[in-house]
Amino acid sequence: MKCTRCARTANVEIRRSRQAYCAACYPDWFRAQVQERIDHDRMLRHDDKVLVAVSGGKDSLALWHALVRLGYQADGMYLRLGIGGYSQRSQEKAEAFARSEGLRLHQVDLKAEYGYTVPDLLETRSGKPCSACGAVKRYQFNRVASDLGYSVVATGHNLDDEAATLFGNVVHWQTDYLGRQGPVLESTHPKLVRKVKPLYRLGERETAAYALVQGIDYILEECPMAVGAKSLIYKEMLNALEESQPGAKHQFLVGFLKKGRASVQVGSFDQATQLKECVRCGQPTTSLVCTHCKMADRGREKAAARAAAVDGSRD
Ligand code: SF4
Ligand code: ZN
Repeated sequence: MKCTRCARTANVEIRRSRQAYCAACYPDWFRAQVQERIDHDRMLRHDDKVLVAVSGGKDSLALWHALVRLGYQADGMYLRLGIGGYSQRSQEKAEAFARSEGLRLHQVDLKAEYGYTVPDLLETRSGKPCSACGAVKRYQFNRVASDLGYSVVATGHNLDDEAATLFGNVVHWQTDYLGRQGPVLESTHPKLVRKVKPLYRLGERETAAYALVQGIDYILEECPMAVGAKSLIYKEMLNALEESQPGAKHQFLVGFLKKGRASVQVGSFDQATQLKECVRCGQPTTSLVCTHCKMADRGREKAAARAAAVDGSRD
């Protein structure tokens, strides 16, 4: 297989577009794809102050790396979720990347600043904290961006993530979630910062290849809470489909964004126009007290109950 650009031996194959690139040409192709999406979906301007949500994984670090190389003013933010050794190791990757690139990384520590960790948010039904964790991330990235004057939050969601989310929302007919699925979420309140997903048309393999070729050291292990998560099952199904029909994931997502989304009613929080400010934290909400403040109360209660049980067993 030859490189589409220089005809040397190719290292990365892009099956859906029948292209292949060598390690020297691949990063330029990847960044050109990111830039093309940014321009096409009017995601960013060069005078935007961008806050990249950084997890220490390949997608967020590849995104941060690419945005900086493309000339955007992009700082990072890492959220300490308190998921044991996994959080520790991913934090180290995020910090090491920021240090080696000379970039600014903000951090928020849920335990130290809010008195709970993500494992304190386990849900009784699923036994997982993932949907609560997602809400915490949205809240914290938005809060920090808004407080520090960033104009956009960029996340590393890739094609596989977006197709799996779409699949899950279709399976359960979550119409309000379907309505807000897209590469750009506009701000509907002065304290609600725009959100963009510049990697949404690039596959997981493609961002992993970019990280590898660029020598980005990222955390390889999955979050232990992800084991058995529905999103992983959806990804496996879509991978099986992609194997027999290259381009299927892309068609599924892009087809929805072009033809399906407009017909879905938009009723979600992010796009609500009647937002107030939470009486406790001042962040945008549709109710008196925001979801995050209520969730943090429950998390603190669980953390206190656990600490009391540990003390009790010592007596
Ligand atoms: Fe949070 Fe679940 Fe992702 Fe872990 S797998 S980081 S708990 S959303
Ligand atoms: Zn609040």
